[in-house]
Amino acid sequence: MRLRRQNPLATFLIAGILVQPVAVCAQIAREAVDLEVVSQIREEGLERSQVESMARHLTEVIGPRLTGSPGMKQANDWTVQMFAEFGLENAVVESWGEFGRGWTNEGYAGRILTPFQQPLHGQPRAWTGSTDGMVRGQAVVAPIQNMEDVARYRGQLANAFILQDNLAEVTPEFEHRDRRTSLESLLTPPPPPGAGRGRRGGGRGRGGANPIQEARAAFVEMAMAEGAAAFLRNSNRGNGVVTGGGAGSRQAGAPEGLPHIALSREQYNQIYRNVTNGVPVEIEMMVENRFYEDDLDQYNSLAEIPGTDKADEFVMLGAHLDSWHMGTGATDNAAGSVIMMEAMRILKAIGVQPRRTIRIALWSGEEQGLIGSNRYLDNHPELHDKISAYVNVDNGTGRLRGIWNQSNAGATPVFEQILWPFRDLGVVAVKHGNTGGTDHLAFDRRGIPGFNFIQDPIEYGVNTHHTELDTFDHLVIEDLQQAAVVVAATVYALAMRDEMMPRKSGPISDS
Ligand SMILES: [Zn+2]
Repeated sequence: MRLRRQNPLATFLIAGILVQPVAVCAQIAREAVDLEVVSQIREEGLERSQVESMARHLTEVIGPRLTGSPGMKQANDWTVQMFAEFGLENAVVESWGEFGRGWTNEGYAGRILTPFQQPLHGQPRAWTGSTDGMVRGQAVVAPIQNMEDVARYRGQLANAFILQDNLAEVTPEFEHRDRRTSLESLLTPPPPPGAGRGRRGGGRGRGGANPIQEARAAFVEMAMAEGAAAFLRNSNRGNGVVTGGGAGSRQAGAPEGLPHIALSREQYNQIYRNVTNGVPVEIEMMVENRFYEDDLDQYNSLAEIPGTDKADEFVMLGAHLDSWHMGTGATDNAAGSVIMMEAMRILKAIGVQPRRTIRIALWSGEEQGLIGSNRYLDNHPELHDKISAYVNVDNGTGRLRGIWNQSNAGATPVFEQILWPFRDLGVVAVKHGNTGGTDHLAFDRRGIPGFNFIQDPIEYGVNTHHTELDTFDHLVIEDLQQAAVVVAATVYALAMRDEMMPRKSGPISDS
């Protein structure tokens, strides 16, 4: 660790330049941004970065980190070991309570036998079962809408490979897509409230059972009773990319169920069209999946740099460490995890002494519904009034271009000024509005200021999000380095403010 004396003359007051007008009743406070520390952060993060080696270890040595799997546990242990090596305090793997059983795929082989032989490019979906060795059977297309449909397939499902997803279009890819976000779009105000941002929350509640669901459940039971081989599932993208998350039950002791094998869209469609046109498709397949029920709890990785005169207040930074299993969880979300780890390493390496405690949290269970972050806050009600702000990264490998204020107008001038020294690195926008889909929502829902950075998309939506292509080669290392520097400076500045981050006024919305 290198300690450097800070030059007090290098502390400048930066007047914020607002990108868009916001309604703030109080006068806008000026942020004291320590440009000497900013310059040390940039030097440490851009010239002595450890982002690449950490990202490679997480993705290519530990590999996929499905919550509950041995990979997740290894990642928890390794990150806390790294925290200790950085010299952080209170580095712990902390249980957040019961999650359910773990799962890994240990083997898969599949091929089409008729009307011609071809290897089947597929991967099992998480928490689904195994075949009884190598099994051979016919593909059956079985759309189920009601109990009459179920009756139609009775007695026909022994060794069947069942297709229930729709035929999905594969469209030609002619159009150029922007991998970086244009300045114009970053500086364009988002659509007015109610136009709907955020992937999770709102309208996704489970109602009572409906007739279609009941018929489909009856069909699954019949398929198991008759000894069907597997469900074949379509991928949600073309170009040969296999995609998908979970399908089976995480509940300990529940039946393992039939395998669900996600196939490339092109092969799924080919099988579907042959069967529906009367051309028999015979398939041979072996699936070996394994469930883990020895420890049903799950864990977050935590560590901190203790504060000084405001040590009982916290600025938190985090990302989810868990991933889906088909790739190695590189852009979702080794990227965010490594950015946060590197931000802590940088701050420790330059020897800052923040006023508030800066605490890193790497969550698990995010992919199953932001569970690790929500349980952490449930387990620590004493922290709710003490957390000044939480910042999160979870939108792929792209560099940071700004941050959403999560409809907290008071946060805008704070971020505008803190982020101002990073305009040359492409950080330009503090957007008024909400973004969803990740762990900052756990904080926001409890009235704690929680924020998610805006990132360049690179190829997140096109190729890597929840696909088998989510691997190390798709990381943009320079972008991760930029992000770590920006995060380090952001949390440091928040930890040094006289006041906590302004909180939203009015009722808390489930954004
Ligand atoms: Zn994610």
